[in-house]
Amino acid sequence: LFIEHPLAEGQGIPLNADQAHYLGTVMRQGAGDAFLAFNGRDGEWLARIDGLSRRGGTAVAEAQTAPQRDPPDLWLMFAPIKKARTDFIVEKAAEMGAARIMPVQTEHTNSERIRQDRLQAHAVEAAEQCGGTYVPEVADLAPLSRLLDGWDSQRRILWADEALAGPAQVLAGLPRGPWAILIGPEGGFSESERARLTRLAHVTPVSLGPRILRADTAAVASLALWQAALGD
Ligand code: SAM
Repeated sequence: LFIEHPLAEGQGIPLNADQAHYLGTVMRQGAGDAFLAFNGRDGEWLARIDGLSRRGGTAVAEAQTAPQRDPPDLWLMFAPIKKARTDFIVEKAAEMGAARIMPVQTEHTNSERIRQDRLQAHAVEAAEQCGGTYVPEVADLAPLSRLLDGWDSQRRILWADEALAGPAQVLAGLPRGPWAILIGPEGGFSESERARLTRLAHVTPVSLGPRILRADTAAVASLALWQAALGD
């Protein structure tokens, strides 16, 4: 369970109504039962429930069960698509270990708005279910052009573009370090975006294979390629 509170031996943990509902009703736990807790800083802890009610509850951290594992320094930038598919991308990116998830507006992106709070909640759920000790931060929707204007060129960008379609490239040989993956919208990147990305030295174009993948598939495929070659 992801909790905001610090975790240390003997530390009391206040539980909110959602967490108490999850533990009590969904997991059928009660006073004396134990669950695993993490807060993104202190690793994973065994926590024991003191009491649960409809309004919340309390637990106590007993022992650390895993040290804090920091996420790989990988960001995922993607152009949001339909709600369910955007949810899918956030969930899978959190499972695959992206440290930061950034919805971006490109020239062909349809969506003008996202519900950042809802997407962040999806990231929390995904991190809980895959036993991670951190939750990726979901950023607000931002225009790609503005992000590129202020980009720190120490962070390389892996730019997936179906225009390069061909055999999937092996990423081995690329330098380790901070990276961001960039996935385009259903309509693909515009010619002016392609021209700009091509000029940037810290941008590496990549093919994900000979077929045109949907954006959600492309996100998962590129996260897997990155993990295999450059992840830990
Ligand atoms: N509108 C485009 C078309 O019909 O030709 C397809 C865009 S695709 C659905 C959405 C995004 O997924 C692309 O912008 C790209 O980032 C990524 N993508 C899909 N297939 C890819 C491939 N074979 N190689 C690299 N990137 C790919």
